[in-house]
Amino acid sequence: MASGLGGQVLRRSFQRSVGGPWNYVGGRRCDPTHATAPFKVMAPATGREEVDRAVRSAKDALPAWSKLSGRERGQKLMEACRIIRENLEDISRLEVQDTGKPIWEARVDIGSCADALEYYGGLAPAIVGQHIPLSGGSFAMVQRRPLGVVGGIGAWNFPMQTCVWKVAPALAHGNTFVYKPSQFTPVTAVTLGEVLTSAGVMDGVFNVVQGEGEAGEHLCHHPDVAKLSFTGSVPTGSKVMAAGAGGIKAVTLELGGKSPLIVFEDAQLENAIKATLVANFLSQGQVCSNGTRVFVHRSIAKTFTERLVSATRALKIGDPMAEDTTVGATIHEEHARKVLGYLTSAREEGAVGDLEGGWYLSPAVLTNCHDDMKVVREEVFGSVAAILVFDSEEEVVRKANDTLFGLAGAVFTRDLNRAHRVANEIEAGTVWINNYNLYPTEVPFGGYKHSGVGRENGTTVVEAFTQTRTLYVEMGDVDAGPLYVE
Ligand code: NDP
Repeated sequence: MASGLGGQVLRRSFQRSVGGPWNYVGGRRCDPTHATAPFKVMAPATGREEVDRAVRSAKDALPAWSKLSGRERGQKLMEACRIIRENLEDISRLEVQDTGKPIWEARVDIGSCADALEYYGGLAPAIVGQHIPLSGGSFAMVQRRPLGVVGGIGAWNFPMQTCVWKVAPALAHGNTFVYKPSQFTPVTAVTLGEVLTSAGVMDGVFNVVQGEGEAGEHLCHHPDVAKLSFTGSVPTGSKVMAAGAGGIKAVTLELGGKSPLIVFEDAQLENAIKATLVANFLSQGQVCSNGTRVFVHRSIAKTFTERLVSATRALKIGDPMAEDTTVGATIHEEHARKVLGYLTSAREEGAVGDLEGGWYLSPAVLTNCHDDMKVVREEVFGSVAAILVFDSEEEVVRKANDTLFGLAGAVFTRDLNRAHRVANEIEAGTVWINNYNLYPTEVPFGGYKHSGVGRENGTTVVEAFTQTRTLYVEMGDVDAGPLYVE
């Protein structure tokens, strides 16, 4: 490592993480007044003060950070990428401790954090304005300016990745940031703070405040926060949007889903089975874009289901730190009980399946499902795949779109025309053809309908994290028309 600093800091972070949760304000870990107490006893007033302090820190850092050139900012993000890659194992283990997801998945998640920092580090110098020639030699210059202080709020399923997807583009474009992680996964956002500081990002550019919804709510209403970027549930997203409306703030929302995965009779079956596992059982099913409504053509339904059930039985549930574990633990007991509740209601409504439970939940494949079941209509956010049999293309498109959500979807077929025809009919922000749950940083991600507003990733976020300032330059005399008589 060039600086040597990142590794030491991160190793210390790894050792100390258990003692958290910590805030990260002004370039250092802070011992919040509630540091070692459970969140339940945190005084709301204290939480508000901590949000205020973090926003002040971000506001103070804004002029210096936004005046750096895009290339200078980009170099620091690239250095942060390098530190993450060099410490990938330690950070992945922190993520496992916090989430219960298996270590092999955490390595993929943390690798994608490095990718996002690399991508936006590279993009930063390319964010430039426009020159617009006008009549008589006059012209306009359109500058791309940062929005100011961004408030980010995240869910618990991909703690560091969710944070980096927001922070990397925001910082690349000259904004500063205050992030509130989920109370259930407070650790790796702070680690990101230490990575950014080690990479030369100035103190105060990125800050973390811990707390429950109250802290997030205060952040959303803070008058000095110009933009809100939220990942979480639909009801909370609606509250965040309302807070944004009150303060005329730009809002990006990444919310839930109930996505269709459609397998036609001519699909390459093994790929469709593998993708169905990826679309349902990653991160214990706690993935917003999961293809939990698995539509299978009647002619292959029996074979497909048998092979899927056999592949599901082969998954190894257990200690998330163990190299051979494929499925880890549900985030917390209350959520595990919620997932089990959906399984019970599915059984009452006629579904058939392996319904074993516990905090380590066995992934479930439900057959005999129909479109009106609770488990088919609502987001379970657990390892529950519902198989729905269909007969025609028209029928499956209609049923696939019969949902309030619109985050993702997939089509499995060898027929190129049908693949595109059906994909174009799916009302969702992402449709995979012959694959599932891939999110390269270069590609925009986000939802239609109740699944969200705006997009993350790709170059589309340039609009989300900047505003334009137009300079009109008059090269001739002012033409006031009849208003001015010589
Ligand atoms: P929640 O909506 O309950 O919480 C998300 C975040 O919002 C948490 O940090 C929470 O704090 C905070 N929060 C709670 N109340 C408020 C408020 N009034 N104002 C501001 N912030 C608030 O979602 P979960 O954490 O339970 O995450 C699961 C949900 O997230 C699922 O529905 C899933 O679909 C969605 N999700 C969407 C993704 C996407 O990209 N589309 C990706 C991942 C998840 P705290 O919990 O600490 O109280």
